[in-house]
Amino acid sequence: MEKSDKKIHIIGAGLSGLVAAIVLERFGYHPIIIERDNHIGGRLQTKKVKGYQVDVGFQVLLEAYPKLQEYAKLDQLQLKSFEPGASIYLNSKWEVLGDFTRSPKLIFRTLSSSIGSIRDKLKIFKLSQSLKKKSIEEIFNSPDLKTIDYLKDYGFSEAIIDSFFIPFFGGIFLEDELKTSSRMFEFIYKMFSEGKVSIPKNGIATLPKHLAGQFKNTEIWLNTTVKEVKSDKILLENDKAIHSDYTIIATEANNLVSNLKNQKTSWHCCDNLYFITPEIKIDSNFIGLLPQKDALINNIVFIEEKKAKKEGQYLLSVTVVKKHDFNQEELIKKIRKELKSYVGIQELEFLTHFYIPKALPILQPVENDIMPSETLLKDGIFLAGDQMLNASVNAAMLSGERAAMGIIELEKLNH
Ligand SMILES: Cc1cc2nc3c(=O)[nH]c(=O)nc-3n(C[C@H](O)[C@H](O)[C@H](O)COP(=O)(O)OP(=O)(O)OC[C@H]3O[C@@H](n4cnc5c(N)ncnc54)[C@H](O)[C@@H]3O)c2cc1C
Repeated sequence: MEKSDKKIHIIGAGLSGLVAAIVLERFGYHPIIIERDNHIGGRLQTKKVKGYQVDVGFQVLLEAYPKLQEYAKLDQLQLKSFEPGASIYLNSKWEVLGDFTRSPKLIFRTLSSSIGSIRDKLKIFKLSQSLKKKSIEEIFNSPDLKTIDYLKDYGFSEAIIDSFFIPFFGGIFLEDELKTSSRMFEFIYKMFSEGKVSIPKNGIATLPKHLAGQFKNTEIWLNTTVKEVKSDKILLENDKAIHSDYTIIATEANNLVSNLKNQKTSWHCCDNLYFITPEIKIDSNFIGLLPQKDALINNIVFIEEKKAKKEGQYLLSVTVVKKHDFNQEELIKKIRKELKSYVGIQELEFLTHFYIPKALPILQPVENDIMPSETLLKDGIFLAGDQMLNASVNAAMLSGERAAMGIIELEKLNH
């Protein structure tokens, strides 16, 4: 049988599934991606709301991610970079804490800011220098502490932990207690120290579109939900059965494979609200943090939206990470109030709200890599997805590559 005649199905058109298809194609296979939604990209989604382009959940690309560099041509993503650091609302004003080794213009504002002590600032610098020398492999073999304990052990003051690390990494881990593994903290901190933090000008969905743009021999079936996966066949929700020589489940597998029912993934959730405002309070090149304990808002970003922008209007993204019981109406009211009282924005037009119940998988332990053979679940069924390793774009892409290589290696062994 020709390689191209092998029936290989990938369930899920998120980053992991898309990369799996790219790798399979490179080795001569013609995979089929089966996707439940009416679009590709999984958790990387961009929508149009009243003419404004909004990402479903604010997220950034760390350009230093090795697998992002390997599978995407970054110069084709039209990336807009943020300043390396953050603007933090403290003592009734916006202060800046930045990596001035990468952006020298931030040196004065960083050293003169009241965020943490000079000792803290030196430690931030020291940590980034030491992580630049530590390999990703070493990081993921390091002791697995809670990030909060790691920061205290490193000697950071409570002030800098509360005003910088909790809101900054809380916005990345989507949890505000920093219980996430210190391996993940070191990995993300290293990526921040080594490359730019960016979003594509045309929205985060640019990345999956760019990956799918590389396909030559991959079919994508949208609006098709898989109900069950067996060793040589896939059952669709409409009860149609499809023969499959190999299947990669590039999403949670527990609902799809019969004896995995108790291996359920737990998830961090978040809210992402968008407003239109003429009042820009921080430079749109910064991510703004609200470290106040009683504030629901974690971070804000002003986005210059060229296409739909009325003259002098900005799109404002607000991310909420803290747990709350507000309904949508109450949440919008509370956020409006916080934007007025903390940020001083009077004129706000609500645009849209996304609640993302399954944003990041909660994983313990976190890993960086897996052998291709280890992605084999049983008889021709392979697993991919960020939940296999760690909650990141890099891990999703890497897991897809490894699952594809699992099939390729097995096929080589069989011939
Ligand atoms: C709000 C938010 C912020 C984030 N911030 C960052 C960040 O700043 N940096 C970073 O590195 N990462 C971030 N992430 C994580 C990153 O987006 C994910 O790690 C990555 O997109 C996961 O890709 P995946 O392929 O593993 O899974 P997914 O994207 O979840 O893809 C799975 C796909 O499978 C499909 N599917 C599921 N079940 C079925 C079925 N039965 N039949 C058919 N199809 C099915 C789904 O529809 C989906 O398209 C963030 C995520 C969110 C949501």
